[in-house]
Formats: sequence, C-alpha cells, structure tokens
Amino acid sequence: MSAKILSGREAADALLATMKPKVKKLDPKLVVVQVGNDPASASYIKQKFKSCEAVAMRSEHIHLKEDTTIETLMDIVLKLNADPDVTGFIVQVPLPPALQPHVPQIVKAIDPKKDIDGFGAYNLGKMFLSTEFEHLPPATPGGIIVLLEHYKIPIAGKHVVVVGRSNTVGKPIAVMLLNRDATVTVCHRHTKNLGLLTRQADILIAAVGKAGLITGDMVKEGAVVIDVGMNKTEKGLVGDVDFDSVSLKASAITPVPGGVGPMTVASLIRNCVTAKERQLQK
Ligand code: NAD
Repeated sequence: MSAKILSGREAADALLATMKPKVKKLDPKLVVVQVGNDPASASYIKQKFKSCEAVAMRSEHIHLKEDTTIETLMDIVLKLNADPDVTGFIVQVPLPPALQPHVPQIVKAIDPKKDIDGFGAYNLGKMFLSTEFEHLPPATPGGIIVLLEHYKIPIAGKHVVVVGRSNTVGKPIAVMLLNRDATVTVCHRHTKNLGLLTRQADILIAAVGKAGLITGDMVKEGAVVIDVGMNKTEKGLVGDVDFDSVSLKASAITPVPGGVGPMTVASLIRNCVTAKERQLQK
C-alpha cells in the first residue's frame, strides 16, 4: 500500500479561507512577543506573520533583546492584557536560558481571553468538559483535528495511539480525541514495548521529537499516521516517523514539512478570530 499524503498546506489554506471574511468583519489583532534570536523561533514567527497577511489580520512583532529581564517581560505581558486593541498574543518559546524557567509564570500571567496559544490552565482545563468548551485549544492539537476533519477521517470509535504526553501536544490532543469518541492510548518515554501499542492504532499520532522513532514495523496496515515531530538533521527537517517505511504500510500520512506545521499556524489564526468573537460577546 502507498499512503495518501495528507497535505497540511491544503487543509491550512482551506481553514484560512474560512477565516478571511471573519477577519474582515471583526478586525482582530495578533501580537507575537519574541525574546532573543533563536533561529527556529524566527522561522516559526515568519510563518505566523505570513498567515496573518494571507487573511489580512493586523499583527505586531515585539522583538526584545536576549538579555531582557523577567520584570520587563512580565510588564509587557500585563500591558498586552490591558490593551483593548490587542485581541490575542503569544510569547514565543523557547525563551533564552535565563528566562525559560519562568515560562509557567508567564503563561499564568496571560489573560485567558487573550491566550491564543491555549497553553494556560483555564483554556486547557475547559477542554476536559466537551468539544463545546474547546474555545482556545492549543494550536497544534486544534490543527490536527481540523486536518482529520478536512480529509474526512473518522475519529469516533477508532483506536488512536498518541506517542508523547506534553502539555502542548500529547495530552491536549488525547483529550480532544476522547471528546470525539475515540479510544485513546497515550504513550511516553516510560512506556514499555511501544511497538506493541502503536501496532494497534487505527490513527497513530507521533509527538516526541525523535527523528524516525516510528518505523514501518510499528504501524498497522492501513493506519492513518500523523507526524507532529520536527527534528533538524543533516538530511534537513524530518519528523518522528520514518516516512519511507511507514508510508508503505499506512493508508494516509502527513509529510514533514508541510503536514502538521501549517495546521498549527492556521489554528493559531483561528484562535485569534475566536478570541475576538468571544470578547465582543462579553
Ligand atoms: P516534549 O519534549 O515536550 O515532549 C516529548 C514527549 O515524548 C514526552 O512526553 C516524552 O515522554 C515522550 N518521549 C520521549 N522519548 C520517547 C520515546 N522513546 N518513546 C515514547 N515517548 C517518548 O515535546 P513536544 O513539545 O510535545 O514536541 C514533540 C515534537 O513535536 C518535537 O519534535 C516538536 O518540535 C514538534 N512540534 C511540532 C509542532 C508543529 O507545529 N509541527 C508543534 C509543536 C511541537
């Protein structure tokens, strides 16, 4: 079997197209706070602004020096919370080493109504209730759900195996899939005999950060495989899935790049639109 390619670019363009008229009507504004010059962050931020342009959304880049103090950064967060012209904002991670330990404090300080990354406890906690309360889901899980819906891949009743349990990808995607009636198994670095579990998956989601961890022998014939991983190697950017061997077994697979990445960005734009809609309702 040769797998169908699930193009995140195609699905992201479709999502952005539905956002454009809403952006025109609601005029939201997205702000990205960047500290320092991490090259990967610079590239992700570029993609975010490109998508803002694609839907004609107002945006602002606050770029701070590497040696910015936590006091200055917190001050900016509080100002953005208070500014009625700012719909939503993100503080791009990773932060420089001196600030990285403060990430929980920064996330906690962001107004949940403006938390378009969906990383705060309020937005994450609400997701446990049901799909109705998934207003601002973390961007990557939100994007994966849109991708599955775009390609009409059924979720209800399917066994989904998620490899990785981070607060930003693995755990929230597991909750969103449960909300949609999947049977979900979550694996992580302490899971024994990973292949035994991944081979049971109708849908396999890899969010680990280890190049080529999932190989063809770990995948059931006909499974749908979603590769979240983004790993820099000598061969360039690769996922957590060994594409060559897995695409021979899977019925559908996301490429890296061009799979989950564009969905994450489009989902962030959607969150900014949702945030504006909800701010106007209040
Ligand atoms: P993380 O480091 O926070 O979490 C990694 C998870 O993998 C952990 O839960 C850990 O227990 C698990 N793990 C580690 N080794 C394992 C092993 N051998 N077997 C099974 N599980 C193992 O990472 P994250 O932030 O969730 O990101 C995961 C990957 O996804 C990274 O490559 C990251 O760059 C990528 N990512 C991509 C996007 C995107 O838009 N495409 C967005 C977010 C993250």
